[in-house]
Amino acid sequence: MEKKIVVLPGDGIGPEVTAEAIKVLRAVEKSFGCVFALQEALIGGAAYEAAGDPLPPETLAACRSADAVLMGAVGDPRQAAAPVDKRPEAGLLRIRKELGLYANLRPATVFPDLISLSCLRPERLGNGLDLLVVRELTGGLYFGEPAGEDRRDGVRRAFNTMLYTEEEIRRIARVGFAAARKRKARLCSVDKANVLAVSRLWREVVEETRGEFPDVELSHMYVDNCAMQLVLRPEQFDVLLTENLFGDILSDETAAIAGSLGLLPSASLSGPQGGAGLYEPVHGSAPDIAGQDRANPLASILSLAMMLDMSCGLPEAAAAVETAVRRTLREGYRTEDIAAGLPGTRLVGCREMGDLVAGRIARAASETSR
Ligand code: NAD
Repeated sequence: MEKKIVVLPGDGIGPEVTAEAIKVLRAVEKSFGCVFALQEALIGGAAYEAAGDPLPPETLAACRSADAVLMGAVGDPRQAAAPVDKRPEAGLLRIRKELGLYANLRPATVFPDLISLSCLRPERLGNGLDLLVVRELTGGLYFGEPAGEDRRDGVRRAFNTMLYTEEEIRRIARVGFAAARKRKARLCSVDKANVLAVSRLWREVVEETRGEFPDVELSHMYVDNCAMQLVLRPEQFDVLLTENLFGDILSDETAAIAGSLGLLPSASLSGPQGGAGLYEPVHGSAPDIAGQDRANPLASILSLAMMLDMSCGLPEAAAAVETAVRRTLREGYRTEDIAAGLPGTRLVGCREMGDLVAGRIARAASETSR
């Protein structure tokens, strides 16, 4: 089985962490007998410098014909003064829209060996943190029309429109239910139905959709309460389903609880079955540490694990990658962002961390197949 993967290293630490994920992918190839045809393409500042466009047409065409896209990060201080539509981040927004990636999945995990990195006290974390935020990515307040600024009676006003159709809600609800089904089968839909008309429709449509997933337990929570519950008792949650703005805020809150940006992967999908998704670490291009072998590649490696599971149909390989990451952490290896204050750490750079995880794939693969 050959899978075509388009690799978009991007800017800053993007190429460094992506190189380590590719190292791990090659180890998976050897252990699991699958073949990956990789094609590298430009995005972000690198693309703007080379082609004057942060998302060149060739990159988009390559992504459209791929089984999955593995991205690093975009963001380059050299383009700070470039027109808004030429900045690196514009390439990222466009690729999501062009590929119809309306579902953003962000797992947040506190690895048992890294509990002290969390901003929460250990007793708040209970058995650790293991939840998934399913965020609608292409609708809501960020895209609704009308949006803009005007002047009424001499007073400046600004406005955005929170708008969802029932179809937009239904398709993301299905992604949420399907994701919960693969986990502990508990879905909490987050809205503001006591105030917002959009949220009332959201709740109605999520309720209508639950009949398709009778094995998943559904609950609803207002977003303000959810923000509070996340820091009070995060272990009550399995999968959180929510719209674009609420998801943006709540997923950053879960990132803070998890501890380090360098550990958090994400997937952006165009349907509940995975399909040709885009996989990337949650972090940005980190220009402050770029080119110094100091970046943590684990978020990129864990994004690769999501890709193997959701777009390549290789759940055993995905589990092997996760096991290899856990084992590497258990043995005390740390990049500097996750080393602080932890006793018995063995400080490594980005490349060595990639070597360690890749080197453990074979062992982890034989363990998970037992
Ligand atoms: P950032 O995530 O790049 O960095 C924030 C801080 O976390 C920095 O101190 C950085 O050194 C550290 N950090 C991030 N990833 C790390 C890793 N893997 N290992 C160790 N340390 C890590 O956010 P920022 O500084 O606000 O943004 C920098 C650029 O990245 C900007 O141009 C921004 O627009 C862009 N950005 C891109 C994405 C993306 O590509 N999806 C996401 C966020 C920010």
